[in-house]
Amino acid sequence: MNEQNIRNGIMFSISGPSGVGKGTIVNAVKEGHPNFGVSVSATTRAPRGEEKDGVEYYFKTDEEFDKMIEEGDIIEYDTFVGKRYGTPAAPLKKMVESGEDCLLDITILGSLALKDKFKNDAVTIFVLPPSLEVLAQRLRDRGTESEEKIQERLNTAKSEVLQAGKFDYIVVNDDLDKAVAEVESIITAEHLKSERFKV
Ligand code: 5GP
Repeated sequence: MNEQNIRNGIMFSISGPSGVGKGTIVNAVKEGHPNFGVSVSATTRAPRGEEKDGVEYYFKTDEEFDKMIEEGDIIEYDTFVGKRYGTPAAPLKKMVESGEDCLLDITILGSLALKDKFKNDAVTIFVLPPSLEVLAQRLRDRGTESEEKIQERLNTAKSEVLQAGKFDYIVVNDDLDKAVAEVESIITAEHLKSERFKV
């Protein structure tokens, strides 16, 4: 029997404090899973650089975003640096029902909302920095922000890491290859769960 026909797809979400290396992990995992479905989020932030509508994001006005929420077109949404980001409902539901997996890079609250809604069809992964000192160093190494902004981010990170226990899994990003391998292991193990086999 083809596994794809006997189970729903799994939504894997990855969240964590800013600067933890979540984006790099997500990109590496996606490379290893070219068959994963892609969820293009809606956002009220403006496109950056070469970003195109419908590719990186669906770029929406506040009014359009409000309308999507009202009409139930958004499964979860959150505010990040004053702009809203949300996962469109229809493509995600279609992926899950057709047995297709996907990987979502969303905020902490977004992951918790996804879990609440989809239960076992959603698997949430929290990426932790090895320590707050290491996170501070990584933010300083980026060289893009003032010390004041870095302190602000660190304070936010301190409260964010308290949410880690609400996630299904925690991956500590002290070594990128190891973190990616651990996410791969989670994906493999989740696929092998007996509850996913409708036999
Ligand atoms: P950026 O503006 O750098 O592309 O993304 C900022 C943040 O928005 C990232 O931390 C990313 O995880 C989060 N994000 C992107 N799309 C979504 C979404 O659909 N829902 C939620 N909750 N967060 C999102």
